[in-house]
Amino acid sequence: MVSVNEASQIIQSIRLSPIAGSIPIEEIAGRVLAETIVTDRDLPPFDRVAMDGIAIASKEFRLNQKFLIERTHPAGAPNVTLQQDDGCIEVMTGAVLPEGTDTVVRYEDVLIQDGWATIKLDAVHAGMNIHKQASDAQHGEILLTPGTMLTSAEAALLASVGKLKVRVYEFPRTIIVSSGDELVDIPTTPEPHQIRRSNSYALLAAMFEIGWRAEINHLNDNKELITVKLREWLSAYDVLILTGGVSKGKFDFIPEVLADLGVEKLFHQVKQKPGKPFWFGQSPGGKVVFALPGNPVSTFLCFYRYIKPWIMSNLNVSFVQSQAVLSADVEFKADITYFLQVKVAQNNGTLIATPVSGGGSGDFVNLVKANGFLELPEGQTRFLAGEVYDYYSFRQA
Ligand code: AMP
Ligand code: MG
Repeated sequence: MVSVNEASQIIQSIRLSPIAGSIPIEEIAGRVLAETIVTDRDLPPFDRVAMDGIAIASKEFRLNQKFLIERTHPAGAPNVTLQQDDGCIEVMTGAVLPEGTDTVVRYEDVLIQDGWATIKLDAVHAGMNIHKQASDAQHGEILLTPGTMLTSAEAALLASVGKLKVRVYEFPRTIIVSSGDELVDIPTTPEPHQIRRSNSYALLAAMFEIGWRAEINHLNDNKELITVKLREWLSAYDVLILTGGVSKGKFDFIPEVLADLGVEKLFHQVKQKPGKPFWFGQSPGGKVVFALPGNPVSTFLCFYRYIKPWIMSNLNVSFVQSQAVLSADVEFKADITYFLQVKVAQNNGTLIATPVSGGGSGDFVNLVKANGFLELPEGQTRFLAGEVYDYYSFRQA
């Protein structure tokens, strides 16, 4: 039996060598960048007019002086040059700042009459309302590095540097396997003694959120069948996520079959509630096996506490531990880590976590009332309102 921290360290010590593949820019949201992105030109690429108005040479400015309007210069037009030092050019946002000018005065600050512009300001200064070339990034500058989670902000950058396709990390080939004779698939009408299997779909959805796709399959509690199938899947997949069959029941064959197949047990049982029977190991060929307890809340929690942080760190994404403030006293007698389901709310910039009591590790109805789990560490039995604990979220506050 290992502690939560030991289990976490053992899992994190298993490193994958993720491979990269190209995807179209339209599909990047939520994926992890696997290449370095540099600018192919300055950003902005020219002195960009930042306001609609007139462009002048600032040294020509006098109070109430009239500037002859030479022309109108829209965005998207090749650059133009001011002909007379004391003239001006009407310029639109996004246009290239005309040669010979260094200042843009907004239409709001200008009176235009009969082809002449009078500036209503007391003073102007060079650079006013101009977005200077290369002020955001210089040609060749590194904008993004591998391990960046791609969002709408990165999409804008990638488009602006001309990337139609982007290299992102691929997830390992993964299969989710439920087990148990009592479990039937969704379309089957369960007999009174049967239940529908739900863990595979919960795992699939949790993985989908981070772009991780997996196959799913099911095993009955038959040792020979489990042996044949697990052997097959250990060769076809890089990661196996099993759920059920790892406890002390007479039909919990998974640990012994994995041992028979040569998968090395790195731990079995974690000092935690729920999810104590968790089994973890690796085959000689490097295949990673998470064998989670079948109770729905246990499976769910183990994914968010261990598997998600593991896969993200293997894709070079840096992990930031969330924390939340407990809103009520909680007592938990056993000297093991307790994962408390909580509903969180924002209060003045702080995440407040309120316990949502459920019916234990089998009560997955309760999960829809919670946003995540607080990790209440071992070695302590009373947890007081106002104390701060690590928080694992599966739903935004
Ligand atoms: P086990 O870990 O196989 O002893 O299962 C513990 C409990 O979780 C039993 O009540 C199972 O019926 C239930 N269970 C196991 N797997 C699933 C699943 N895929 N979906 C829903 N419940 C499950
Ligand atoms: Mg079972």
